[in-house]
Amino acid sequence: MLSTIDDTTLLKVATALGEEDAVKLIEILKNSGEITDDEIANKTAIRLNLVRKILYKLYDHSLVSLRRTRDPKTGWFIFHWKLQPDQLEGFILSQKRRVLEKLNVRLEYEKNHDFYHCDTPGCKRVPFEEAVELVFHCSTCGKPLAHCENGIQVQKLAVKVEQLRKELGE
Ligand SMILES: [Zn+2]
Repeated sequence: MLSTIDDTTLLKVATALGEEDAVKLIEILKNSGEITDDEIANKTAIRLNLVRKILYKLYDHSLVSLRRTRDPKTGWFIFHWKLQPDQLEGFILSQKRRVLEKLNVRLEYEKNHDFYHCDTPGCKRVPFEEAVELVFHCSTCGKPLAHCENGIQVQKLAVKVEQLRKELGE
């Protein structure tokens, strides 16, 4: 049906949503015209609650549309879901942009600060301004703080930023 949605795209969407099972769900959705949450739960063996949770997440990002009918027997609502495949690409792009923004902020922060560390594994680095306030002693273990290089962090971040920029065609 919607053969343009490949597995990589599905995986990216699922990762962005933080839901592994979203892959299975979208696969079912892309092979169905309209489908109810009950039917999806039966087909995937994913708990109905989780199916609904993922569907609402997809709905929040306009990746699925929703139609509501009433069951004539029980009077309960039935929810019919449909994938909006043309929204997937846009969704992934906007996710990438958000990640890029965060990485850029992080990169600038690393570039513009000097960091200090106590050398104890598990204790966090602090920027110079904070180290001064702490009179150059770690607030966790109490050991003296020494200047530490962040060249590797800066480099790693710069590589990620560059890669994402390329992917976004910027
Ligand atoms: Zn420490």
